[in-house]
Amino acid sequence: MKREFVGTLYIVPTPIGNLEDITLRALRILREVALIAAEDTRTTRILLNHYEISTPLTSYHEHNKLTKLETIFNALASGDVALVSDAGTPGISDPGYELIREAISRGVRIEPLPGANAAITALVASGLPTDGFVFLGFLPKKHKARAEALAAAAAETRTLIAYESPNRLTDLLEAIIAALGDRPVCVAREISKIYEEFFRGAASAALAHYTQHPPRGEIVVIIGGAPPAERVEWDEADVTAALRQQLGSGVSLRDAAKQISAAAGWDRRAVYDLGLAIRNEA
Ligand code: SAM
Repeated sequence: MKREFVGTLYIVPTPIGNLEDITLRALRILREVALIAAEDTRTTRILLNHYEISTPLTSYHEHNKLTKLETIFNALASGDVALVSDAGTPGISDPGYELIREAISRGVRIEPLPGANAAITALVASGLPTDGFVFLGFLPKKHKARAEALAAAAAETRTLIAYESPNRLTDLLEAIIAALGDRPVCVAREISKIYEEFFRGAASAALAHYTQHPPRGEIVVIIGGAPPAERVEWDEADVTAALRQQLGSGVSLRDAAKQISAAAGWDRRAVYDLGLAIRNEA
């Protein structure tokens, strides 16, 4: 039987570097809720102290997330709870997913706040296409599993986004070159912090740069998608052959022109006229 929950679970993004990158609404919610469920209470305490917020905190992290659920649902029975992670949006490569999923299934009201996220911030600054993208999160650490994950994304034409730690960046760039080719990349490092840096260029250039200057700090790698499959150009001989074949097997000129123009990337009228000439010859 579903329990009645008085409280709302707020999903509250926090800054990914610059303490000013938090919304007025997020600060109000953090002040007003009965409890804040935080990935690391010490990290969140620094943020709360900065904004003079004294709401009670409880930890909710990778290793206690299942046992902590009941504490959080008990709190939701009588009041609001805010979920925060160490940085950015909870649930994105951070704990939160299980709590949110469970809260939905128990009928708790969920209110997500828009806010900081490293992947989207890096993407928009990368200069790579933003109209479609695939978030890969952290790729596997083991060489073989990572190569397989990249190979699975090799045909993806949308921009790819991966989180990576600085000590694995050059390995990742090598794996990208091996699995995807020398694609354009943007390495976004320390976004919104003092040493913010965007390296835009070919994966091989990024590899050379970061081999020479081992990176520090936090990193998002944006990778250009696969180039669209090469279109094989049909010349007049190809179109003529296709027309002869279709007309010879009884297809109407109208239907043949429609099908062949779509396949050849030709104007339909031009195919039709060529078909007329073939028919007249015959
Ligand atoms: N929940 C966070 C979000 O919404 O972006 C992501 C948390 S995940 C545990 C941490 C990873 O995010 C880092 O290893 C790095 O890949 C990326 N990241 C976080 N802050 C960043 C920053 N300021 N600059 C670049 N990457 C960052």
